[in-house]
Amino acid sequence: MGVDGFRQERTSSGGGPGGPRVLVAGASVAGPALAHWLRRWGAEVTVVERAPELRPGGQAVDARGVAREVIARMGLDAAVRAACTDTAGAHTVDADGHVLETFRADDDGGDGFIADIEILRGDLARVLYDDTRDHVEYVFGDRIAELAQDADGVDVTFAGGDRRRFDLVVGADGLHSELRAMVFGPPERFLRHLGHVLAFYSVPNEFGLDRWLLEYQDQESGRSALLRPIQDATRAMAMFYLASSDFGVDYRDVAAQKDLLRERMAGLGWLTPDILAHLDDTPDFYLDQVAQVVMDRWSSGRVGLLGDAAFSSSPMSGQGTGLALVGAYVLAGELAAAGWDPATGFARYEARMRSFVEANQEIGRLNARSRAVPGPDAEPVPDFTGEWFTELVGRAINGVELPEYAGVPGFKGVPGYEGVPGYAGVPDSAASAGPR
Ligand SMILES: Cc1cc2nc3c(=O)[nH]c(=O)nc-3n(C[C@H](O)[C@H](O)[C@H](O)COP(=O)(O)OP(=O)(O)OC[C@H]3O[C@@H](n4cnc5c(N)ncnc54)[C@H](O)[C@@H]3O)c2cc1C
Repeated sequence: MGVDGFRQERTSSGGGPGGPRVLVAGASVAGPALAHWLRRWGAEVTVVERAPELRPGGQAVDARGVAREVIARMGLDAAVRAACTDTAGAHTVDADGHVLETFRADDDGGDGFIADIEILRGDLARVLYDDTRDHVEYVFGDRIAELAQDADGVDVTFAGGDRRRFDLVVGADGLHSELRAMVFGPPERFLRHLGHVLAFYSVPNEFGLDRWLLEYQDQESGRSALLRPIQDATRAMAMFYLASSDFGVDYRDVAAQKDLLRERMAGLGWLTPDILAHLDDTPDFYLDQVAQVVMDRWSSGRVGLLGDAAFSSSPMSGQGTGLALVGAYVLAGELAAAGWDPATGFARYEARMRSFVEANQEIGRLNARSRAVPGPDAEPVPDFTGEWFTELVGRAINGVELPEYAGVPGFKGVPGYEGVPGYAGVPDSAASAGPR
């Protein structure tokens, strides 16, 4: 039995080729993506996930620019595209459902408001998990309870009772990372609440939604409701957004979160009452503050952080997933290229990623500001028409170099990865050659 009464479940033994043993906490996007690359470079990887199984849910997340390139280099382009939402675009509507504005998915070459790789977070996590599960040990329903590092390794005690030693540990356990709290300090030191709350859950598609996303914004209260088509045409994904200067609800107390939503969305027009009516029968509910994680450094000795745990840019940036995918590629590549020396590998990962992360966090903050409720204390809404913004978006989408890590030895004989571009002896120039 694992923690919190969950059944503990393991996939493959993860028995590896004798490379470094790496423990990754969190099996959403960052964790499995990192596991893919670590394994490809020869590490033995264990991923521990607190939830009893892969967590479903979440709105669509986007992959733009370099993140799309990382997916191609993983050989997962076809699998990801097959799971995409196929959204044609978005309409903003008034309270009676009349269309006010339209954004098409192919605007800005597929890197715009609706990216051309747009996939439900849970579906992306599933693709990444399926890709790695036979080569990586996954432990569900457990978490790290204690860890102690010395010059040569990290001793980990799991909440379920196991004790094991690893060469490296990486926290990919999200905004409220426990590993971050254990090693770097309490959440309040790193979390920056951006004054908004978001909730997502799926509902029956009783709204006749086809391939277009609908969004209703109430300018006065700053609240909005959104309905998004998903692959299963019988259902739709709902999102609610509200401004809130503080956030006092426990991020794990789902009942309190639903109460908060009912209370704060009361009186919002359009289809809101019909969407709220499904709060109690939805199989997947997620609500959290819109927050960023800002840290001076993302590693301490043999322990590193990745994804939202290290540098959440918030859903307001639309780039949290992209950062996680790109960060996973760079972190694994730099560690392997440094011969698994943590000081060098983590430092190079950070040097490469820092300005890319900052550009995305800047976009997240600007978008949050543009949605602030008008009032005497509100900061001025940014002027997004300037060239400065185009330049910032460019940096946020493409502003990081993706080395080919051609000098990294890779590891011959890792089953399942033969013939993959970038893998031992296969030139990276074949990177977009298609799926495995
Ligand atoms: C259920 C869910 C729904 C989401 N919905 C959206 C969305 O609609 N839009 C959006 O922009 N972003 C959403 N996000 C956040 C989005 O996934 C991230 O911004 C981005 O993809 C980076 O992911 P990540 O892997 O770093 O972190 P996350 O996706 O937050 O994943 C962290 C993982 O770590 C696990 N975990 C937490 N604590 C521990 C622990 N102590 N030990 C082991 N595992 C632990 C969590 O269960 C989770 O699986 C959602 C996240 C989750 C978990």
